[in-house]
Amino acid sequence: MSLPRRDLFEIPEGVIYLDGNSLGPLPKAARAAMDRVVAEEWGGMLIRGWNAAGWMAQPARLGDRIGRMIGAPAGSVVVGDTLSIKVYQALASALEMRPDRRVILSDSGNFPTDLYMAEGLVRTLGRGHELRTPAPEDVLGAIDGTVAAVMLTEVDYRTGRRHDVAALSARAAEAGAVMIWDLAHSAGAIEVDVTASGCDFAVGCTYKYLNAGPGAPAFIYVRPDLAGRVRPALQGWLGHAAPFDFDPGYRAGAGIERMRVGTPPVLQMAALGAALDAWEGVDMAEIRAASIALSERFVAGMRAACPDLRLASPADPALRGSQVSFAHPEGYAIMQALIGRGVIGDFRAPDLLRFGFAPLYLGTEEIDRAVDVLAGIMRDGLWDRPAYRARAAVT
Ligand SMILES: *Cc1c(COP(=O)(O)O)cnc(C)c1O
Repeated sequence: MSLPRRDLFEIPEGVIYLDGNSLGPLPKAARAAMDRVVAEEWGGMLIRGWNAAGWMAQPARLGDRIGRMIGAPAGSVVVGDTLSIKVYQALASALEMRPDRRVILSDSGNFPTDLYMAEGLVRTLGRGHELRTPAPEDVLGAIDGTVAAVMLTEVDYRTGRRHDVAALSARAAEAGAVMIWDLAHSAGAIEVDVTASGCDFAVGCTYKYLNAGPGAPAFIYVRPDLAGRVRPALQGWLGHAAPFDFDPGYRAGAGIERMRVGTPPVLQMAALGAALDAWEGVDMAEIRAASIALSERFVAGMRAACPDLRLASPADPALRGSQVSFAHPEGYAIMQALIGRGVIGDFRAPDLLRFGFAPLYLGTEEIDRAVDVLAGIMRDGLWDRPAYRARAAVT
């Protein structure tokens, strides 16, 4: 295989896309798949598509394909809903598995929605659970016999800092805590092996490095020996053992199927299927090696050309995911000036410029060009314009 596979993507002329960690670009095959599914399946088959086009089986089939990228065996991953919902499901099931414990352990750097979902669940349960959020480096030492669930995101969305999955999972298992990993910035970015880590649950989204488009469904993994025993908190009809019996009482579906909730997003699943085709024959070790080469090249270029921007990510590439961030008090305006010149990254408050590296469609030319453009902006103060300071709703 050779990287990058740029031809598989529609990236506008003149754009250097360093934001695939937030929203992956459009795979050409996804546009074609959506056109076909809209016309032939939705348009032509109407409701017959559920059977004739296999819509109902897609959440598990796509789950299996994602499973192969994260070390999960067939039948242990299913797609649907959004990641916030999948976090809630995993955590609710985890807390039921440890009825005599009251602590949910996360960290202060976790993505806000994960923490919000935990907070909301604690209130709904009303059983005195407590959400603890120590600094990321203090989590390992905070895992003890009172912890019901450890809920962490492997790669920090702001800095790219990476948790030690093996060590934390082992410590959680030793302490009898349920381990939940959020792989939002891991799936498609770095090597993941949920089986080797021994974790109980893993969740993630498909619109970041997996390129399935805005609003694409999330995924959830449940360790195979647990999947038939966990109780789903969201008892939707499609997670029922026999949805079309329309039984008024709920009976959980077999294994991972019980983590389904309601009607799956058929059009987004078509995009996801095509987006996953771009990964066929790709070795994640090769992706990881290429990602490190790109990010190291970027960091070295920035150090030489933009000394005013301070690296806010771990300097050791082994300790970060597939993104790097730089801090600057005028970070927002600098990023807008950069985007205005076709180099797209993003900004995270209060002062971080964030750049993602996706070797599937990025090569060294894009990296060098991005550094050059940014160096010009810094050298000539091109960011210092009122238009670049005006904050948009989505940063
Ligand atoms: C991107 C991201 C989310 C997004 O959740 P949605 O429900 O898909 O909007 C959640 N958690 C983490 C850690 C993320 O990085």
